[in-house]
Amino acid sequence: MAYRVETRCICGEEGQREAHPYGAIAAPIYQTATFSHPGIGETTGHNYTRESNPTRAELEHIISSMEGAADTVACSSGMAALSLCLELFEAGAHIICSEDLYGGSVRIFQTIGERRGRTFTYVDTADAEQVEAAITENTKALYIETPSNPTMGVTDLARMRELADRYHLLLIVDNTFLSPYFQNPIAFGADLVIHSGTKFLCGHNDTLAGFLCTARKDLVGPIRNLYKTTGAGLAPFDSFLMLRGIKTLAVRLERQQSNAQKIAKWLQSQKKIKKVYYVGLPEHPGYEVNRRQARGFGSMISLQTDTEETARRLLERVRLISYAESLGGVESLITYPMLQTHGDVPIEVRERLGITETFLRISVGIEHVDDLIADLDQALNGKDTTGRSQV
Ligand SMILES: *Cc1c(COP(=O)(O)O)cnc(C)c1O
Repeated sequence: MAYRVETRCICGEEGQREAHPYGAIAAPIYQTATFSHPGIGETTGHNYTRESNPTRAELEHIISSMEGAADTVACSSGMAALSLCLELFEAGAHIICSEDLYGGSVRIFQTIGERRGRTFTYVDTADAEQVEAAITENTKALYIETPSNPTMGVTDLARMRELADRYHLLLIVDNTFLSPYFQNPIAFGADLVIHSGTKFLCGHNDTLAGFLCTARKDLVGPIRNLYKTTGAGLAPFDSFLMLRGIKTLAVRLERQQSNAQKIAKWLQSQKKIKKVYYVGLPEHPGYEVNRRQARGFGSMISLQTDTEETARRLLERVRLISYAESLGGVESLITYPMLQTHGDVPIEVRERLGITETFLRISVGIEHVDDLIADLDQALNGKDTTGRSQV
């Protein structure tokens, strides 16, 4: 029997771990740009770090094993992975995207993507009919986030696979929000999976990284070639930090999810909170679909406050939770998507999705849940229930 995902976080696929020199348990950091050749036309397996490096190769093996991918390239950021992915498409290619995407993804599509002659249509991918209606003869791919950022829309991956088969499209999934611990899009038919490794995989808000995983054997060569040509590779030291972070992915995510579940319930009980978006709430419209295709709900919560004043008050008054972009780490963060992550999304799209001045997003960390709720309570309701003196 193959190793379970918790074990693969630590050592990848059974029987495929290469022993480290001197019996080192942790992966050595091969801080070298180049590798000497044993003879003419011979290689140790690594030649130049832009192309490959042993520390990074171990990380790529672990991600491939967790996602069930044929190959993975580790990149310097999630955006570097996404820009490699875009390079797979010629001018004239049309891509259909979830309308609610990470703001940086929208920015790269609308600037570099469009300038190079690719076109993008944004639809509610939770509705397969809308997706099908948007397909043209130039459509080459579906680009999905599920759950989406920041409104937590859930897309049925098996339905997207049916469309991809019928119209010969690549199915690309940004799996950042659930990570391979909770969701494996390739098992539901994705061809390519993208991660911002900066988020849950790293888990400590200290390293930028990205991954492009492919299930398609015919794309392994082209992606490796683009990777070494563009120089998108993750540095050896950052590869080591990612390996270290991923070892605890399973335990972190279990705690983050159970905290998020309690916080989502607490937020629902608050008068000043008008709406809570959390995939783990049974009344969430995507609850059932997410249950079918994922092993968990994650720890991202968005919310609507009653007024802009309440939203600003929460952001300004939280003390344990930090007002900062990003997500997925052990430290809880709260963001104002309208001004931060989604500032570049066209205003009419933002308004339609509800990403307004009353919309906030929380990434729940591993602190004690009672401390997190006490912090939200004092920020929202002006009570100090932390038991600590106010200065
Ligand atoms: C952060 C993020 C990205 C971009 O990743 P970086 O590592 O910041 O470059 C892409 N997609 C999603 C869903 C993200 O949250």
